[in-house]
Amino acid sequence: MNDTPLGQKLRRLIAANGPMSVSEYMAHCLGDAAHGYYTTRDPFGAGGDFTTAPEVSQMFGEIVGAWLIEAWRLSGSPDPVALVELGPGRGTLMADILRVAARVPGFRRAASVQLVETSPTLRKHQADVLGAPGIDVQWHEAFGDVPGGPLLLLANEFFDALPIRQFVRIGATWRERVIGLDDEERFAFGIGAGRLDHGPAAPNGSILELRPAADALMTEMARRIVEHGGTALIVDYGHADAGIGETLQAVARHAYADPLEAPGEADITAHVDFAALARAAEAAGAATHGPMPQGEFLVALGIAARAERLAGDANEATRHTLRTALERLIAPHQMGILFKVMAVTRPGVAPPPFAFGRI
Ligand code: SAH
Repeated sequence: MNDTPLGQKLRRLIAANGPMSVSEYMAHCLGDAAHGYYTTRDPFGAGGDFTTAPEVSQMFGEIVGAWLIEAWRLSGSPDPVALVELGPGRGTLMADILRVAARVPGFRRAASVQLVETSPTLRKHQADVLGAPGIDVQWHEAFGDVPGGPLLLLANEFFDALPIRQFVRIGATWRERVIGLDDEERFAFGIGAGRLDHGPAAPNGSILELRPAADALMTEMARRIVEHGGTALIVDYGHADAGIGETLQAVARHAYADPLEAPGEADITAHVDFAALARAAEAAGAATHGPMPQGEFLVALGIAARAERLAGDANEATRHTLRTALERLIAPHQMGILFKVMAVTRPGVAPPPFAFGRI
């Protein structure tokens, strides 16, 4: 019964201070210094809890790498340029990008690798994967610590891990949803004192999510891009327009779990609200492109041809692996539609393959 080490700590905190907001709970679950989900483990791959696009196939990172180099050219080939990744996981995506970048010496010379990662466990993994001679990597706790200047920024499945707040519609008000303890000392959702002043009307019991951490980070990134130049590419699952409804979810061992069940031992995320991110970026003076479904983005940039080339005269087993990976990345019922890609640039830059306007 919520009896993880973090569960015990959170129960003590709630007993002492009263119920906590969903965003506090999420921040503890993912980032607690001793027992947080990302702090304590490498969650990726078949033996872990979930698999991300760069872990599915090198093709993902190769296409994204080629896109970034094109975005660098379109923004005037700045030198130096910070190649920033938020939440690099196992370092696989950055390794695939650097392999592509090695073929463009001007870009490779200009780029310094800047990783924003809070988990000591994953930092170590990233150092093992990227720590080849000649590769200079710097780690940062937060985006604000990345040295100034033009940047090319990547965030794959990062924004979904930022804490969200939830509100419940009660009568004519939106009240903050909190997590407390029931009579048997189990975690339970409840209604807190906080109110949302200007929420939309909705049926009683509806849930509304706000993402202040994501919006603030987007504002900071967009300001940097407007001031110093560069581009950001955000890839994540979520809706083009979020609306009302709950998207908080927990995943453990490749299956959905109860977010209150085993704090610190399941990944807790929420869908990304791309419309809110675009609003934040535009309010800071930047231009946004997309969101475009991941499948469409990868196909427009030639992932099928890339798969063909890799298949070359490989044996049937390898060809099968490539076909399965391609399907997983682009098929509508797999990652092709739920995952979306959005770019942020200075106004007046139009990176392919984004058409003007938003889906
Ligand atoms: N981009 C990788 C990993 C995605 S999982 C991939 O696609 O495989 C989320 C990553 O973000 C992990 O590396 C996690 O440790 C990191 N992370 C989560 N919250 C963070 C935060 N607030 N600041 C910095 N890194 C964070």
